[in-house]
Amino acid sequence: MDAGASRSGSGERGMVCCGRLRDYTASAHNGEVSGCHGSQRTDGCMNTVKFEAPYLGIDIGGTGIKAGLVTADGNIILERTVRTPIEEGRAGMMREISRLAADLMEASAGSVEGIGIGSAGLIDPDSGEVIYATDNLPGWTGLSLASSVSRATGLPVWADNDVHTAALGEVWMGAARDYHSFALVALGTGVGGAIVRNGQISHGFGGRSGEIGHMILEQDGLLCNCGQRGCMEQYVSGSALNRIARVIEPDWDSRRLIREAQASESRALQAIDQFAARLAAGLISIYHLIGPQSIVIGGGLVNSADVWWSRLEHALRRKTDMPIRIEPAGLGNRAGIIGAAYMVKCKLR
Ligand SMILES: [Zn+2]
Repeated sequence: MDAGASRSGSGERGMVCCGRLRDYTASAHNGEVSGCHGSQRTDGCMNTVKFEAPYLGIDIGGTGIKAGLVTADGNIILERTVRTPIEEGRAGMMREISRLAADLMEASAGSVEGIGIGSAGLIDPDSGEVIYATDNLPGWTGLSLASSVSRATGLPVWADNDVHTAALGEVWMGAARDYHSFALVALGTGVGGAIVRNGQISHGFGGRSGEIGHMILEQDGLLCNCGQRGCMEQYVSGSALNRIARVIEPDWDSRRLIREAQASESRALQAIDQFAARLAAGLISIYHLIGPQSIVIGGGLVNSADVWWSRLEHALRRKTDMPIRIEPAGLGNRAGIIGAAYMVKCKLR
């Protein structure tokens, strides 16, 4: 944790009007506001929303940095996304994060309670330091992420791995609201994971828990960028589907493979069946290891679940008698922002 500055907010009610959060008690008595629309009733402004002092959630990935103001009851009231300037390394990425935070803090008129950050990479949840990040975020390894953002903003800041914060989002507002124990499997370019017990992320030593993508599925299988062979990520990720697609036809990619499977092309369907069987094998291992109430599956590949979800269910039934419950994540690419905000809410309780 890094609580480098005192809290600026006090949980008072506020409102957003045309992208700016204004003090509710000062400006909205008698149901009126003044400013960007002149004087008018609050219920006459379609852009006006009342809420408690918000949390700022930031989600840092290799392609985009997303940030949002999130109310105490879990709704995003203002959201911004910028491209991750990876070509500028750490300095450029920190500049964009500071800009986003300043923009949203200005819009909230200084009432933000604190900042939560989910970032790709291995993050120490206690210190908020980036222990390791791949070249998707160049220069990120070794950064004291939480303290740096706290110094730049004057707010308390906490940081965790982005799949961990996405899982917290699903706990708070998404598919896992009714569960105290579940696993999130994120099928994106790679495969990420998070394990939640008693409503809390199970971090393991230094945040190392939940690296589901590096469970070994195939003895002496494909070489993974972690140095092992046969990792789950090499068989059930977006990158894996790209590779599998190219084996079928050199000019196919994962999207083409999905389209062909949707059109019942036999080689594409066979590849999807193999994908589903391997994913099922991984999910069965997760089930036996942690005994979750449910395994929530998120990430970009869920957008094409129409072509593989029923095949995954079939593969699970074929491989095990265990009553494994699976379901798609509920928040899409907003889970990271909402979960990062929820991390702040939990820390400030
Ligand atoms: Zn690996």
